[in-house]
Amino acid sequence: MKRGILGGTFDPIHVAHLRMAIEAKEAFGLDEVVLEVAHVSPFKLDYEAAPPEARLQMVSLAVEGTPGLVAGRTEIDRPPPSFAVDTLEAHAGHDLVLILGADSLADLPAWREPERVATLARLAACSRPGFPLEEVVRALPELFARRVEPFSAPLLDVSSTDLRRRLREGRSVRYLIPDSVIRFIEETRLYL
Ligand code: ATP
Repeated sequence: MKRGILGGTFDPIHVAHLRMAIEAKEAFGLDEVVLEVAHVSPFKLDYEAAPPEARLQMVSLAVEGTPGLVAGRTEIDRPPPSFAVDTLEAHAGHDLVLILGADSLADLPAWREPERVATLARLAACSRPGFPLEEVVRALPELFARRVEPFSAPLLDVSSTDLRRRLREGRSVRYLIPDSVIRFIEETRLYL
């Protein structure tokens, strides 16, 4: 089984996450992509994210009906913070491809056991607005840079932070977040 792992806080999940998952699945011939929902990201200790189960529920709703995309809860079931190295260990036994936006890739050397991360999975990465992949790769230590396998995805200037702001302000997030997820957010009043 060739399995992609796309980790994130998904607070909330948005179209760029979903597009990335699909593009990577096609580019690397993956059987499935698991969107692993962080319990607490070590890089986001400074803000309180929506409850993990609510974020998982949003990811589950978002992937419904897209073959090969699944929501993962291995990080939620471990005590925080959530380290990618542990998540990859939990999926050992499969051919793993770690899927990263260029901003996350830039942080990789600061992760727990980054060298081990790079041996447990192939490193697939795409650009993000403000983070051209080539520049990010150039700035990485050679050990990681030579392992990066680029894939292309439409450049979508969307972030969860901006979406939370729009929701707080009562602005529309239609077409940036799947309709089923918008309904969940409205029903639970998650970001008010
Ligand atoms: P926030 O704005 O709150 O920091 P985010 O939008 O970056 O959140 P995360 O859940 O932290 O969302 O991201 C999960 C993964 O998706 C990371 O690898 C990140 O680089 C990638 N990603 C998120 N948004 C984009 C985007 N617009 N283009 C490319 N990659 C993205």
